[in-house]
Amino acid sequence: MKQISLKNKKIFVAGHTGLVGKSLCKRLEKEKCKVLCVNKKSLDLRDFNKTDRWLKLNKPDYIFIAAARVGGILENSSYPADFIYDNLSIALNLIHLSYKNNVKKVLYLGSSCIYPKFAKQPIKEDSLLTGSLEPTNEWYAIAKIAGLKLCKAYGIQYKNNFISAMPTNLYGPGDNFDVKSGHVLPGLINKIHNAVKQNKKKVTIWGTGEPKREFLFVDDLADALVFLMKKYNKNEHINVGSANEVSILNLAKTIARVIGFKGRFTFDKSKPDGTPRKFIDSKKINSLGWKSKTNLLDGIKLTYESYLKNKSK
Ligand code: GDP
Repeated sequence: MKQISLKNKKIFVAGHTGLVGKSLCKRLEKEKCKVLCVNKKSLDLRDFNKTDRWLKLNKPDYIFIAAARVGGILENSSYPADFIYDNLSIALNLIHLSYKNNVKKVLYLGSSCIYPKFAKQPIKEDSLLTGSLEPTNEWYAIAKIAGLKLCKAYGIQYKNNFISAMPTNLYGPGDNFDVKSGHVLPGLINKIHNAVKQNKKKVTIWGTGEPKREFLFVDDLADALVFLMKKYNKNEHINVGSANEVSILNLAKTIARVIGFKGRFTFDKSKPDGTPRKFIDSKKINSLGWKSKTNLLDGIKLTYESYLKNKSK
C-alpha cells in the first residue's frame, strides 16, 4: 500500500470552523504539517473564480473537503435549495479546481445519508444508488453523491488521487446545539439540560423514538481522515463507522443519565422519523487497520462538557 507522509506539507482544511474541520485541525498538529485555513468571509467556496485565485496563491499539496452546509432533519428538509446548491457548488469548485491546480490528493467528505432509505443493513459501500433516498435529506444526499462521483470521475479520466469517505452520524465538542437546526444528539443535550435547569418533568422527542442511528465521535473521524489521506488511494468511496448503534429513545435515556434528568419522555409524532436505520458496514476501513475508539457514553460526556463550557463563556 503506497503511503504518503504529511510532514512539512501544505494541507488545506476546507471548512475548518465546522465540527469536523475543528477536530481535523487539532488532529493534524501531530503530523507536523502546515495547515491552511480560510474564513468564510474571506473566501466563499461557492465562488469558482475566487476559489481558483486562492488556490493559485496558497498552493496546497493536499485538501480535506470538510466544508458543507449541514443540519438536522428539520433544517435539511426546510431549506432544500440551499442544501443542494451550496453543497454541489463546494464539491464542483474544489474538486475541479484541485485538478486544475495540481493538488496531489483530495479527501472529500460525504455522509451515510447517500445510501438508499431501505438499504440492506449493515450498509456496504456498493449499496449506493440501488434504491430511492430518504426524502428528508435527499437534497443534501444528491449533492454528496455528486461529490463522490466527481472524485471518481477525475480519478478515472485524469488519474487524480481524489478519495472520498462516508462517515456515519457525527457528534462531538463544538457541535451545533441549536434544537431547530442541529442534529438529534446535540439537540437532545440542549433540551435535556434546559429541562433539568427549569425543573421540567418531561422532554419531547421528535418522531417515534424508534429509528436507530450509529454515532461516531468526531475526534475518531478526524483520526480516520488522516489515516485515509495517508494510506487510501482508491477512487471507491469508503465508509467510516463506529458500530455504536442506538435507538433515538435509548440515546435520550443515555443523555439523561449523563445530565441527571429523572423525568419522562414524550413523543411529537408530527415530526419526521427519517430513515429507520442507517448502520454502515465499516469492514473495509477496519481491514486496512483503522477502528473507532470512543464509546457512546464517553463521547456524550465529552460533548456535554463542551456544551457547558460554551454556555459559561
Ligand atoms: P438524520 O439522522 O438525518 O435523520 O438527522 P437527525 O440527527 O436530525 O435526526 C435523527 C432522528 O432523531 C430522527 O428520527 C429525528 O426525528 C429524531 N429526533 C428526536 N428528537 C430530536 C431532536 O430534538 N432533534 C433532532 N434533530 N432530531 C430528533
